[in-house]
Amino acid sequence: MLGSAAGGGLPQWNCACENCALVRAGDARIQARTQDSLALSRGRAGDRWLVVNASPDVLRQIERFEPLHPRSARDTGIGAIALTNGDLDHVLGLLSLRESQPLVVLATERVRAGLVERNAMLRTLARMPDQVTWRTLELGREVLLDAVGLGVTAVAARGKLPVHLMGAIDPSPEDNVALRVRDLASGRVCVVATAVGALEGVDAVLRGAELVFFDGTFWSEDELVAQGLGKARARDMAHVPIGGDGGSLARLAGLAASRRVYTHINNTNPVLREGSPERAAVERAGWELSFDGMEITL
Ligand SMILES: [Zn+2]
Repeated sequence: MLGSAAGGGLPQWNCACENCALVRAGDARIQARTQDSLALSRGRAGDRWLVVNASPDVLRQIERFEPLHPRSARDTGIGAIALTNGDLDHVLGLLSLRESQPLVVLATERVRAGLVERNAMLRTLARMPDQVTWRTLELGREVLLDAVGLGVTAVAARGKLPVHLMGAIDPSPEDNVALRVRDLASGRVCVVATAVGALEGVDAVLRGAELVFFDGTFWSEDELVAQGLGKARARDMAHVPIGGDGGSLARLAGLAASRRVYTHINNTNPVLREGSPERAAVERAGWELSFDGMEITL
């Protein structure tokens, strides 16, 4: 787990909510987190890694995880980068990886076009012919990454357009996806679903997965409103809350995955505090809370 926080990170630069204040005070019950990203590999020495989302914190995240370091004079341990949507929290890091290193980037055509065709700055990733190789994620069709040893299938998840494209183009099912990542050798599946705006159909997305990373952005629908931090409810931001009758904890109680991990956690979420009732409820239900540096071996 390279980064376990939602956009803004923890602490968020302009936030003095209870959690952000506790982190700044060095409270032992809560730890700082960088923005949403994780790295997957089939687990063999020397393997290159699939990185899911390129967060604004990507440079720090790479330095903190040795397998992503260069192994020769000009190199990277990153075998491919997959984007779950076009939010700046998930794509700004691409601009930090502009040092003429060939990259393979997986995205739906909608996400690719929203980035490349509407933002002149993305041309910095096209200054040499093969700098970025885009691989199109068609919904439901697996992309084989032979060099990484993994297959990636995008599945539509209810989401929203990136803020900078709202009103400019019509929404599409390709705007936000969950990823089913399959080890090509063993067939074992991990699902990354870090932005999920509705639980209808989610069973099919998670089916057969041994490891699930799920949207843990908010505990409650009115988290920002109740803390006086904004007017948007969780559903306005295309996130299903963890708690409550319609929340993911109740609705996914029968999930068969052996490891279930909430990630993409907003800095306002009370589950971030050890000892909170919300944290206890998550752990009692057999879910884990992600943290930067978390490692999971299946
Ligand atoms: Zn905060």
